Amino acid sequence: MTIEALDISVIRGRTRLLDGVSLSLRAGELTALIGPNGAGKSTLMACLAGGMTPDRGTVRLDGRTLAEFEPDELARRRAVLGQNTAAPGALILEELVALGRMPYRRSSLRRQNLSIVAGAMEQMSVTHLVGRACCTLSGGELQRGHLARTAAQIWKDDGGAGAGFLFLDEPTASLDPAFQWHVLREARKLADQGSGVLLILHDFNHAALTADRIVLLNRGSIVAAGPPDQVLTVELIAQVYGIEMVRITHPQTGCPTLLPAAPGPGQTKMRHRETSHA
Ligand code: ADP
Ligand code: MG
Repeated sequence: MTIEALDISVIRGRTRLLDGVSLSLRAGELTALIGPNGAGKSTLMACLAGGMTPDRGTVRLDGRTLAEFEPDELARRRAVLGQNTAAPGALILEELVALGRMPYRRSSLRRQNLSIVAGAMEQMSVTHLVGRACCTLSGGELQRGHLARTAAQIWKDDGGAGAGFLFLDEPTASLDPAFQWHVLREARKLADQGSGVLLILHDFNHAALTADRIVLLNRGSIVAAGPPDQVLTVELIAQVYGIEMVRITHPQTGCPTLLPAAPGPGQTKMRHRETSHA
């Protein structure tokens, strides 16, 4: 199972939001997509997931272009959680999660829907919120509800989680640190169970600790792609983000870990430059 973008470009006016990007996503692999604000990450995710058609190049899922799929068929193969996804406020949580099963309404899997919805809610730790209207949920609780909906959408035929592709755009954005790790671990688990997962993240260390591969995008082009230790170099981060980091090795995992560099010799606090020179 593969999703393959070949030389795709997205052009709006005179701007190339994506400029000749090629990228393959494979089942069982977790890829983290990083890059500055406006780099084109959400645009690339939309093209890979079929929400947007690139102006040039093609995206294929198992050899077929995305346009060849019926909407329901595509929806059973991949689930997407966009940035700032809203939910109708009056919807109760389990109805939101059950929306993930809409693509199966005409299939034999329909009978299993209730147990799948329950399993996905369990997986994202929202079972205690059953019966609550979406408008009463905190940002993080709603985010976990959406994550349960996307997990339910690609739930395997035999009842377990983890088939198809999962696209999550900044899934940790509104979560506290405990739930950030919860979501990252669940995303990792889905990849280990056979899903292909693409996560847009801003935290280098989250990416290093969870991803098999990191793709660094800048101004619509891939600057680097590979295992975390090849992409998370101090040089590449300085080149793309213009920030100075120091790299250490995580004492337990051996993963590269990036920390902000000290602002100057002997300085221990990140003060505003004018203050620090006063
Ligand atoms: P990212 O997710 O990396 O922050 P996006 O993919 O959302 O970036 O957007 C990439 C760039 O394209 C941004 O600068 C954004 O303002 C711009 N952009 C997005 N959609 C359009 C559009 N329809 N017309 C013009 N510019 C757009
Ligand atoms: Mg974005």
